[in-house]
Amino acid sequence: MKRVAAAVAVTTTTECTDAMAPPPPEFELSSNLEADLARVVRQLSTARHVVALTGAGLSVESGIPPFRGPGGLWTKYGEPPMDGYRRFVEDPAAAWRERLSPRAEWARALRDTLACARPNAGHLALAELERIGVLGCVITQNIDDLHAQAGSRNLLEIHGNHHLLRCLDCVRRFEPDAIEIDPDRLPPRCPDCGGVVKGDTVQFGEPIPADVLRRCYSEVERSDCMLVIGTSATVYPAADFPMEVLRRGGRVVEVNPTATEFTTSATDSLRGPAGALLSHLLDLSKREAGAAA
Ligand SMILES: [Zn+2]
Repeated sequence: MKRVAAAVAVTTTTECTDAMAPPPPEFELSSNLEADLARVVRQLSTARHVVALTGAGLSVESGIPPFRGPGGLWTKYGEPPMDGYRRFVEDPAAAWRERLSPRAEWARALRDTLACARPNAGHLALAELERIGVLGCVITQNIDDLHAQAGSRNLLEIHGNHHLLRCLDCVRRFEPDAIEIDPDRLPPRCPDCGGVVKGDTVQFGEPIPADVLRRCYSEVERSDCMLVIGTSATVYPAADFPMEVLRRGGRVVEVNPTATEFTTSATDSLRGPAGALLSHLLDLSKREAGAAA
């Protein structure tokens, strides 16, 4: 019987080169921005529970283009089916065959892009802010695994993680090599409950896994300060999180190069590339912690 590890499903022949990760954008702090950063650092240091909400904008500096818009993966290669989850449920074996050797150009482009992407200064700064006790949790809409690679620990991936597999029945996640994939007996089954296993990435039409959503709301309800990074936070459920913090009287700081639909609701906005801004935020937070000690 032919048996191959699921790792085969995500292995790519793409040669990853440094050239695939764009250099960090040139960025100089204006004196206004310096004052804004200092104010935000004080807010972070006095907050009870800081949560970061991140989106596609954060990973652009890691060479992952946004899905839509100019240069977007879907703009370039075509949109994925909007009923991906229904198709999976109707015929999981066919969906798995497509996963193992994608025919769709957008799927191949996404797979190769994700395989080569590495965390950038923004991901690393967030992981370090958590380590020094400033940040309590990262909630991300990204599936790229870069927060985990950077070392974030209390991490909630609302749209799943492209690297992992998930049982549709008991929702347990599996590392790719923990489940053997037999191409002649698809779909693979959960070793715990026998349920159908699919990729962890939440597809169009698929509900956000209830366990993650519950933990998100419990973090958000404790939060009196939220950083909204690289996302306009317009899509449910992410759109709900900063609004909930605001409703409870907390502060929400937007970190984005340009204004978004969320800007008018934010209590503060830091304008610039996330990598540079979060690195500054980390340096100032360390200095603040040193001064307080
Ligand atoms: Zn299961």
